[in-house]
Amino acid sequence: NKRWLKHYPEEISPKLHYEEKSLQQMLKETAENFPEKKAIHFNGKELTYRELYASALKFARYLQKIGIGKGDRVAIMLPNTPQAIISFYGILLAGGIVVQTNPMYTEREIAFQMKDSGAKAIVALEILYPRIMKVKQETDLEHIIITAIKDYLPFPKNIIYPFIQKKQYGFSVKVEHAGDTHLFSKVMEEPILDNPILKVDFHEDVAILQYTGGTTGFPKGVMLTHRNLVCNTRMCVEWMYRLKEGKEVILGALPLFHVYGMTTVMILSIMQGFKVVLIPKPTPDVLLKTIQSQKPTVFPGAPTMYIGLINHPDIEKYDLSSIDSCISGSAPLPVEVQHTFEKLTGGKLVEGYGLTETSPVTHANLLWDGERIKGSIGIPWPDTDAEIRSLDTDEPLPPGEVGELVIRGPQVMKGYWNRPEETEQTLKDGWLYTGDMGYMDEEGYFYIVDRKKDMIIASGFNIYPREIEEVLYEHPAVQEVVVAGVPDPYRGETVKAYIVLKEGVKATEEELDEFARKHLAAYKVPKIYEFRDELPKTTVGKILRRQLVEEEKKKLKQV
Ligand code: AMP
Repeated sequence: NKRWLKHYPEEISPKLHYEEKSLQQMLKETAENFPEKKAIHFNGKELTYRELYASALKFARYLQKIGIGKGDRVAIMLPNTPQAIISFYGILLAGGIVVQTNPMYTEREIAFQMKDSGAKAIVALEILYPRIMKVKQETDLEHIIITAIKDYLPFPKNIIYPFIQKKQYGFSVKVEHAGDTHLFSKVMEEPILDNPILKVDFHEDVAILQYTGGTTGFPKGVMLTHRNLVCNTRMCVEWMYRLKEGKEVILGALPLFHVYGMTTVMILSIMQGFKVVLIPKPTPDVLLKTIQSQKPTVFPGAPTMYIGLINHPDIEKYDLSSIDSCISGSAPLPVEVQHTFEKLTGGKLVEGYGLTETSPVTHANLLWDGERIKGSIGIPWPDTDAEIRSLDTDEPLPPGEVGELVIRGPQVMKGYWNRPEETEQTLKDGWLYTGDMGYMDEEGYFYIVDRKKDMIIASGFNIYPREIEEVLYEHPAVQEVVVAGVPDPYRGETVKAYIVLKEGVKATEEELDEFARKHLAAYKVPKIYEFRDELPKTTVGKILRRQLVEEEKKKLKQV
């Protein structure tokens, strides 16, 4: 039944053997195998694998000293910096669970995530400190470890971090050096932990809580076990079989707090002894300069990154020939972009597919073998089973028919943190219901055509209408609101809010925008507002979001 298997080249085995080791054990082994090899490059400074492991052990010891133990949640709220990787492995070595936190979060979003995960400590960039302090009382946070821009490795002062809302918080931060606030630089002066937790229950122990809206749109913590992450990484190594252990240089441009950046940049590379070139703000300019100077061979990214690059006016002036292999994920990759990118770099760029709940990859196109299939997400990875099921009968559908994509494999999450009901709706008999609609062709290649869920993907960021609607509903002038993703030539989709105002009450677009900005990270704030007298609804009063999107698409076609 797995008709895709016939496309597997002989280098890729459809059934793999997985070493049952923890993520932190993998780092230890890489540090032993390649102690003096460079692990991280950041702004002209480098860290070896020996130094990375030692730093993580220092961090782990400090965590234990302040009372963090087995199963305790510790949040990381950092841009792409060496500190993020050190903290990530430090938390695991202390026996903790990593809670990945987007540094763009507002107070409201931080408060929600900290309460939901029950995090006891958070590692954050200094400038985020006031934001965290404002909500700390509402949460279980006992400790804040802050790292300054200049800490540990000299950070470039002139980088404006994309995550910081300068207007809101300013750049000079007064840190209260109370008992619950700790400096990362001081932590790095500590001795190393000599009895780190390396052994875990491979199948059951959760390593990471990765927040996502999933299919229902409400933020939930996806529990990813050591097994989920080690298996998905092992599959990736098999898929990209030409990559050489200890030899590659990987561009760390994807945000580490997103599942795809985490697994490619923080897990795959560390397991394989690659050098990671960290980029905190991946503008096309920075990417081009970094590729030319650092010569990365592997560049995992999202379509927007590749689109930005190939449209840069000076791209021809840069030497991008080091680029060898790239898998694009998180949103559809236009074929045109793939071809142009390949022509300009001489490397391979293929589309993959996955979601947070599958750690994250389930499908990809073949990098070096076979023909390219236009618009396809590719074929399932080793040990990964995929079916297209009918929404009505839940029965598998024949090739060519559109239904919901369901996945089974060792990368499928353990469940949602503290949400047994949502877990039950999403995970049935070991099959994960992705909420994505698609089909499989006669050859076993898969295609995604739509999303059952209402998630908007703008510039690679997932945005859930419901969250934005909830904020706008709080505005005193708003009677009804529905938020939808409308087509946008650059962001893929962009956020549009349709508003019905209360009778006799006035509000301008500017007022609503200001209100939204106060409560939502910048990328979620609607870019377009439309005021209406009423919204289209079903007979039971459900707002027809899809109808609005269709209207928008029709309008675009007429232009
Ligand atoms: P996340 O959990 O943030 O990784 O988002 C997962 C969602 O991104 C999936 O359920 C899809 O809707 C979407 N997605 C990921 N990769 C692709 C792709 N290649 N084509 C279309 N949609 C994608």
